[in-house]
Amino acid sequence: MSYQRSDFDKWMVPNYNPAKIIPVRGQGSRVWDTEGRDYIDFAAGIAVNAVGHCHPKIVDALKAQAEKLWHVSNVFTNEPILALAERLVRHTFAEKVFFANSGAEANEAAFKLARKYAHDHFGEEKSEIIAFYKGFHGRTLFTVSVGGQAKYTRGYEPLPAGIRHLPYNDIEALTDAVSDKTCAVVLEPIQGEGGIIPAERDFIQAARAVCDKHNALLIFDEVQTGVGRTGKLYAYEHFGVTPDILTTAKALGGGFPVGAMLTTADIAASFGIGSHGSTYGGNALAGAVGCAVFDIVNQPEVLDGVVTKGQQLQEALSRFAEQYKLFDRPRGMGLMIGLPMTEAWQGRAKEVITEALSDGVMLLIAGPDTIRLVPSLLISDEEIQEGLKRFEKTLQRL
Ligand code: PLP
Repeated sequence: MSYQRSDFDKWMVPNYNPAKIIPVRGQGSRVWDTEGRDYIDFAAGIAVNAVGHCHPKIVDALKAQAEKLWHVSNVFTNEPILALAERLVRHTFAEKVFFANSGAEANEAAFKLARKYAHDHFGEEKSEIIAFYKGFHGRTLFTVSVGGQAKYTRGYEPLPAGIRHLPYNDIEALTDAVSDKTCAVVLEPIQGEGGIIPAERDFIQAARAVCDKHNALLIFDEVQTGVGRTGKLYAYEHFGVTPDILTTAKALGGGFPVGAMLTTADIAASFGIGSHGSTYGGNALAGAVGCAVFDIVNQPEVLDGVVTKGQQLQEALSRFAEQYKLFDRPRGMGLMIGLPMTEAWQGRAKEVITEALSDGVMLLIAGPDTIRLVPSLLISDEEIQEGLKRFEKTLQRL
């Protein structure tokens, strides 16, 4: 089997423009390409490979389940997915879980449930969803419409109605906008795709208060911030606020596609039998891998390690910011770090990460003006140092 990057252009729909190299193997936070060159992975499949590539415990969990039972659909339940649901309920505010296959699907379920709950309890007038500019919630038509980036909805009109966008971290705009017609306020505790922009504590608390005042549900999209990424199992724990619905995906499966929507028993009751569904959601393989990932991540030493490794990276990157002046001081929490490009380098984040790849380090962008680092939560000191060394080489050259 030997393929080239040019084969992608031959056979694939052109909605992506993948890098020139083709990764073929990964171990921990190192990846090798078809030519045998190695890369330090600060991208982790876009915040997915929370325990690195091919962690032996998730490989074993997948293999063991693969020899037992793969899929039975939701006509039956299965033990691995019940075990994952039990873990999520035990370790979060939630009392009920709905499983999907991706972040967008978890959000689609959340937004539908918020509408349904409002209709069930307050009538059809209560249907407005309030969301934020630069927010990102997925690429289905509903989720992309709730997302606050016009570039992702352009050309797909007509869009679903009843969605309004506000500036993020603007308490006044939020308290003015929410009314008895609002069924939900949806936010990311740290905007990811929008440029790694953390919410202010006061903003999150104001969102909770205004939702309570108007019987609106508070939905946290923790697809990117969840499963240990910020140093807590879920980022809501940092803010002293509990959402009504939380969505999680990406790291939940450590590379196996799975998403989930968590909520209370009262709200969950609005998703009665037959009201929503998914053929694969709650698949046994996803459950088995999800449990293995969860058990690795949900340990105090791993979560504390995320904080320490994050600080270590932020210190080194602050030094790079000062020395090379391509980007300003890093922002973010734990191992979700953004490097905002300086004035002179506006719009050129992609160019920098492309160069960095040629020096053997995988980075991401979060919009055109931010470089993003979201490595494995288990990345070793040696991998961090080697990745920084390679990145510094790029910065020196540029
Ligand atoms: N929500 C957030 C906050 C995300 O960062 C993403 C993906 O980047 C999504 C939702 C969509 O997830 P998926 O691509 O798994 O549908």
